[in-house]
Amino acid sequence: MKILVTGGAGFIGSHLTERLLADGHEVTVLDLMTTGRAENLAPVADHPALSVIKGSVTNSSTVDRCVSSVDAVYHLAAAVGLFTILDKTLLSLRTNIRGTENVVDAAYRYGTRLLVASTSEVYGKNTKVGLTEDDDRIIGSPLVSRWSYAEAKAVDETLTHIYARELGLRAVIVRLFNTVGPRQSGRYGMVVPRFVGQALAGEPLTVYGTGQQIRCFCHVADVVPALIALLEDDTATAQVFNVGSSEQVTISDLAKRIIATTGSRSEITYVPYGEAYGEGYEDMLRRVPDCSRAEQQIGFRPRRTLDDIIASVVEDVTAQPLGA
Ligand code: UDP
Repeated sequence: MKILVTGGAGFIGSHLTERLLADGHEVTVLDLMTTGRAENLAPVADHPALSVIKGSVTNSSTVDRCVSSVDAVYHLAAAVGLFTILDKTLLSLRTNIRGTENVVDAAYRYGTRLLVASTSEVYGKNTKVGLTEDDDRIIGSPLVSRWSYAEAKAVDETLTHIYARELGLRAVIVRLFNTVGPRQSGRYGMVVPRFVGQALAGEPLTVYGTGQQIRCFCHVADVVPALIALLEDDTATAQVFNVGSSEQVTISDLAKRIIATTGSRSEITYVPYGEAYGEGYEDMLRRVPDCSRAEQQIGFRPRRTLDDIIASVVEDVTAQPLGA
């Protein structure tokens, strides 16, 4: 197949692009190269079936040109990372809403099958253990910038769903829960590469808030095959799927485990949310998925444990300190 990966030079996109090329597909990457990096595609840079276009999904004619010549689109391009969202809120909102609208609309017009990457962030303040796709999205006040990311992604989901239901677009939506692994940068806020970078540098690990907030981290190598299987499955069309791990960890314990794994002498410092992200910040206190829908649909079951994830990020950051 000819495949377009928007955001293909990003963390998840580059792993997906590599996999698709290895499977014999022809891949076009559309990436703005801001959070995406050419180095992420270095292992496949000379691959004859890869072409990379530097451009924004907010540009409808660029999107149109890219989508017109492919059979399938993985839409991963987005403004990501809490530091990006809080620092450039309007730009992030525009990228995440307009970009997706352009992609969805072009996929509809050209009859291209589509996967839209969404986020567990859409569950907002819903702290239920084992969030299912039909659970409520409890997004906080629009005055709290953090939720603008969830709001944009929620709109993206609704738009995709309506195009699929009313117009027959072959699209599937995937809510990713804290995907982690090699090449993820800590620069935009993501906690695992940040802690690993801090531990390896002998700097204090900056735990925000009480550290009692809970996350479930899933290795990108478990996520990529799930994305491919869901896009290729016709019966997944017009549905939403959680994709993540159910192994819970508090952020405080995560810091301790990373210190232990690296043998670092770093200490842990507790930083109030206001200092980390600005006043009025609200965190998600617990975010634990129920992925039985994806399990039933495509046999999804993440294989890598949190220890595996930490080990692979340590290896990656050790090899490329700039990645942190
Ligand atoms: N976090 C932290 N220290 C950091 C970066 C993040 O304690 O240096 C916390 C953050 O406040 C959140 C959790 O780690 O509670 C996960 O943050 P991340 O940005 O990786 O993902 P998300 O908030 O989207 O789950």
